[in-house]
Amino acid sequence: MTPFADARKALQNGETDCERLVSSFFARIRAQNDRLNAFVSVDEEDALEQARRLDRLTGAGPELPLKGMVMGVKDVICMKGRPVTCSSRMLEHFESLYDATAVERLRAAGAIFVGKTNCDEFAMGSSNETSYFGPVRNPANPDYVPGGSSGGSAAAVAAGMCHTALGTDTGGSIRQPAAHCGVVGLKPTYGRVSRYGLVAFASSFDCMGPIGQCVEDCALLLNHMAGQDERDSTSAPVDVPDYTQSLTGDIRGMRIGLPKEYFADGLDAGIRGMIEECVRGLEREGAVVQDVSLPRTEYGIATYYILTTAEASSNLARYDGIRYGRRASLDELLETMQNEREELELAMETASGADAEALKERLDGDPMLHRFYMASRTEGFGDEVKRRIMLGAYVLSSGYYEAYYAKGQRVRTLIRNDFDTVFKEVDALIAPAVPTPPFRIGSKTDDPMAMYLSDIYTVTANLAGIPGLVVPLGLHPEAPHLPVGMQILGPHFGEETILRIGSAAERLRGRA
Ligand code: GLN
Repeated sequence: MTPFADARKALQNGETDCERLVSSFFARIRAQNDRLNAFVSVDEEDALEQARRLDRLTGAGPELPLKGMVMGVKDVICMKGRPVTCSSRMLEHFESLYDATAVERLRAAGAIFVGKTNCDEFAMGSSNETSYFGPVRNPANPDYVPGGSSGGSAAAVAAGMCHTALGTDTGGSIRQPAAHCGVVGLKPTYGRVSRYGLVAFASSFDCMGPIGQCVEDCALLLNHMAGQDERDSTSAPVDVPDYTQSLTGDIRGMRIGLPKEYFADGLDAGIRGMIEECVRGLEREGAVVQDVSLPRTEYGIATYYILTTAEASSNLARYDGIRYGRRASLDELLETMQNEREELELAMETASGADAEALKERLDGDPMLHRFYMASRTEGFGDEVKRRIMLGAYVLSSGYYEAYYAKGQRVRTLIRNDFDTVFKEVDALIAPAVPTPPFRIGSKTDDPMAMYLSDIYTVTANLAGIPGLVVPLGLHPEAPHLPVGMQILGPHFGEETILRIGSAAERLRGRA
């Protein structure tokens, strides 16, 4: 029985009620959050109120299929009247004015929201170490990263601080932490779930999706989150099936491809071994497994970091310190500028020729507004976000646009074509989600390139817009108690296929 199915049964039998359920989760949050830092804000009173409201409604019948589902929400997703910080100093005191569409739909189906989960700042990162509120720790071993950027959501689910949580995935941020924390994470097809109310990082990549302890809970959540939304013009007008119906475990005749580029050098041997063992199990269940090739995989990271930083530099331009977000102190700025002016004037007195020209230019330049934007953004954003904004502005600049951004767009199409071709031969692909088990907190923070490279197996799905599911396989044979996950990729709107394979893998593990 899954954790939510258990709760649901207890609710139906009258053994418990939503209020008691919420209280028991808060006991766990209180016991663990100081150590794990998974939630950046919780609101117990509000959660109890949501629970009492549900308890007053009679029955847990089909009209409220998620009644009693206790959830965390990544802090880049809006919930009315609640903080939405994006784990950034920039939005430290910002409150959302409305519910994201997915939140609104889940709430209507009976879900209860306990709080907002920690993440990398503006969802930029692979280890949950770029949060303004400090790193999240892996519940399996707190010296290790939980993966990012939805690390708080994955850690909260793994530690039993909520039944399920929402994450977002722009280049792997649901799948990576799911793999590192030993839980299930689903990145839906681009457009399957509305992005309304999701703070934009790279709009043509961003996807919202569920993280849970089992495939069934993720399928159930997708049932209620998915579907077209008139408030997001990129949400797809595609019918939403009942995803739980595909969890039959029957995979006879299904064609599964193993992309050779995903099992090449650089993949940890322990992870490879565990995936191969699971694949053998799936073969015994009747799946037909074959090797396939996605030849442009090697260009994934470069293409992803060119295109997403370009989109990020444009999306994050809205944080100017004026309309909302962190605002630099005007008094301090005026004082600094006054001091600078005095120094420049002093220097002018003795300068001549080109030096004097340059000084005059500086005196005349630096309009106040410009300095104010700069000061607010300097204070509000952390290093990784600044790095991305600079990189993005660079690849979009007139001299380099063709060489980087336009070329990146073309390579994106080629990567997508690779997947289209391979999905003519197979129904789904199996691959690792991450090249290594979780690493020690702090071990990669000084090396952004090494950090970016850990995204190698996940960014391609976002470049192509296809869905990906991560299921846990157990603990790594050598790394100390660290979980290993396996990724299943499917064609556009192939969520049913990958959920079916995921549930078959889950059953195999249950039997092992
Ligand atoms: N690790 C990737 C990045 O830093 C993915 C982030 C994400 O999916 N939000 O861009």
